[in-house]
Amino acid sequence: MRLDKRTFSVVETDNKFKYFASIATADGRVFVPLLGQRYQYKNLAKMFQGELLQGTAELLFKDGDFYVYLSLKKEVVVSEPDATFTAIGVDLGLHNLSTSVILKDRPTKASFFGGKPALAMRRQFAEFRKSLAKAKKLKRIKASKDKESRCMRDINHKVSSAIIEQALAVEKPIIVLEKLQGIRQRSKSSKKLNRMLNSWAFAQLQSFIKYKANWNGIPVVYVDPKYTSQKCNRCGFIHKGNRKGRNFACKKCGYQLNADLNAAINIAKQYKNLASSYMLEALGDVTTPLTPAMERKQCEEISVVDRGNPNI
Ligand SMILES: [Zn+2]
Repeated sequence: MRLDKRTFSVVETDNKFKYFASIATADGRVFVPLLGQRYQYKNLAKMFQGELLQGTAELLFKDGDFYVYLSLKKEVVVSEPDATFTAIGVDLGLHNLSTSVILKDRPTKASFFGGKPALAMRRQFAEFRKSLAKAKKLKRIKASKDKESRCMRDINHKVSSAIIEQALAVEKPIIVLEKLQGIRQRSKSSKKLNRMLNSWAFAQLQSFIKYKANWNGIPVVYVDPKYTSQKCNRCGFIHKGNRKGRNFACKKCGYQLNADLNAAINIAKQYKNLASSYMLEALGDVTTPLTPAMERKQCEEISVVDRGNPNI
């Protein structure tokens, strides 16, 4: 049930339960303590400090409990990106749910979020549902699917928060993602389970990254996913055979690194190239590519930040 501002408000008190929902009913106003997690209390505190604004509110009754879904709003300025921004390239995949890298003059910090826990979780649910299917327990199958979605959602929240945290550590960050179509295409040959993960879980992850980034004033851009996994980020050589599973080994220059990291660097570089060619265009010179000397320097210093069981 949707609640409007006349029927619902939050009240701050000195009570043990600090925040109460004040809901107008046919029998007068009802005050109910709001139980939540620490971050939710923090957000409510920010609302009373005027930092956040109350958005829509919804009341749900589920399994004998009432739930209030309250959205909070904030006004943010998301700057128009240009070549002075620092690109954080994000590659999404299965071995690593996300691989993100900060590209300054060269790639500096890579962060991996391992995909093993998500895959293990999904396999467990799939197995469990097989047994339910045999017993024809359709209701429980539906419940299990809902639970799995919630688990994946939690994981996506963790991954997206970690990427935002990484971006906030640099000055003028911009997050670069692949246009989603590419992720789907790339996984055409993978198993059914993986395809399912790709179709909605990646879309959700991208949307979480986008809204959390914008919430923090960080712009997000999408680049063409073509060849991001086949292209050598050092010499630019494109070949299907460059990538062998988790490893990338350039058939032309011999450069080797983790395949997901190579893709993330390519994604970040796409923005950098777009931004710099745009700047150069404004200056009337679109022909100057990165010099070979600069290219060669790239990737010498990559520190890896561990985020939950990386599959490198
Ligand atoms: Zn190469």
